This record gives sequence, structure tokens and C-alpha cells, in this order.
Amino acid sequence: MKKKLKRLATSLLPVADNRVGSCNRCGECCKLPYPCPFLRFDAEGLSTCAIYHFRPPSCRKYPRTSAENLTAEVCGFSFVPGPQPLEVAPPEPLPPLVPVEQTA
Ligand code: SF4
Repeated sequence: MKKKLKRLATSLLPVADNRVGSCNRCGECCKLPYPCPFLRFDAEGLSTCAIYHFRPPSCRKYPRTSAENLTAEVCGFSFVPGPQPLEVAPPEPLPPLVPVEQTA
């Protein structure tokens, strides 16, 4: 319940940009911490939401971040590691300085 309250509080924040994948309609997030009264299953066993177009941000954005993904073992979304620091090659040595001939 504590994690659900955290999700509710952070649901106005953006979805992490390292989230990949898509919803496979397993419906597991709709059971946190108890089955949502608007959760339905179609004939193929895929979850649907009875108020899909009016669902709250915490449902709309789930899973918003890796830390808030409470169903990682079944969820179709996952999070890739953040950007890695670029490796920078050492600078090439400069050519030796050659004196410029002075003209009178
Ligand atoms: S747990 Fe993930 S894949 Fe399953 S219904 Fe929720 S968002 Fe979709």
C-alpha cells in the first residue's frame, strides 16, 4: 500500500525516458494492492479497463520508473541502463614547432 501511495504521489512526474517495451495486458498492475473494480478480462484473457479513457495518471503511466515497477517479472515494459559516459581518446600530439622565417 505504501508503494501504491508513492506511485499516486509521483504520477504527475514524467515517465522515465529509458523505459522500453509495451503493455502486454497481463493486468498485474491493476491488482496492486488489490484488484481494481474497473479491471476486466476479455475472452482471450487479456486485461481491459472499464474506464480506460478516464484512468488516473498512476495507471496511465505505469510503470513510470524502474523503482516503481512492482510487476517487473511479468510486465511488458522494462528499463534500460542509463546513458554510459563517452570514452574520450587522448589528444594526438601536436607537430613540432617550426620557426617562421622573417622577411626584412
Ligand atoms: S503490469 Fe505492465 S504489461 Fe501488465 S498490464 Fe500493467 S503495464 Fe501492462
